[in-house]
Amino acid sequence: VYARPCPRRPASCTPPVGEGMVVHTQSDRLDAIRRGVMELYVSDHPAAWGEKAGTGGSEFDKVARTVGLTENRYGVDGRNHVKQENGVAPGHGSLTIDYIARDESNPYFTYDPAQCIVCSRCVRACEEVQGTFALTIEGRGFESRVSAGMHEAFVDSECVSCGACVQACPTDALREKTVLAKGLPERSTVTTCAYCGVGCSFKAEVKGDEVIRMMPYKAGKANHGHSCVKGRFAYGYATHKDRILKPMIRERVSDPWREVSWEEALTHTANEFR
Ligand code: SF4
Ligand code: SF4
Repeated sequence: VYARPCPRRPASCTPPVGEGMVVHTQSDRLDAIRRGVMELYVSDHPAAWGEKAGTGGSEFDKVARTVGLTENRYGVDGRNHVKQENGVAPGHGSLTIDYIARDESNPYFTYDPAQCIVCSRCVRACEEVQGTFALTIEGRGFESRVSAGMHEAFVDSECVSCGACVQACPTDALREKTVLAKGLPERSTVTTCAYCGVGCSFKAEVKGDEVIRMMPYKAGKANHGHSCVKGRFAYGYATHKDRILKPMIRERVSDPWREVSWEEALTHTANEFR
């Protein structure tokens, strides 16, 4: 941002608010700075950019489009984290340092280091939102990368699969497997989790008539955009063949269940309140 009277363009989270401060978030100069930063990201992580690598709908992709990034002056032939066809990472020649295979160990989401821009959002989400401390950034400089546990696969680490890191990731480095397999959702409906009594709010994101993912709803008063693994990923019950779709009542525990109309079920429930 440009925050007068500060003559420079500091990151929006760093300058303290002061008397008479005027903040500008949009200008040609700021656009050029943002474009330059995105271009540097893209030069280092070409797989993080563009539809060819991920969903094309990540926050990173959207920002690249917003700042008008159509090409990158530095090219994509330099040292990067993308696996090359000859199996050797460019500029370094060491697959063990520059390239790490996707981690598909978690049943619900994928971690692809080649698309990671090492922004640390996932680390902070795991620490500050979830409180599990399963993630860290290991290595220095170009070798920096996200690491689960003690350099383990996600499924072997302390990760409890809450999905907070996936939600926070601005690229497709951490992405729900359903989104990668079926594409981005087309619409959403705010609903309440059907599991426990906390009553977390979710956006049920749908493509056609299929739920693609359940996103914790930020305006949800019980959960403020966070949830546990069940509401986030274990929503298969919605279409399970054994799901009960009609109300049923029984007078005694020993009686068989009897399908009834909603009106009869509600009247019965109201009458049974004492
Ligand atoms: S899914 Fe949850 S517990 Fe696992 S690494 Fe991400 S934020 Fe941490
Ligand atoms: S949030 Fe995504 S891009 Fe950022 S460090 Fe984590 S995995 Fe990498």
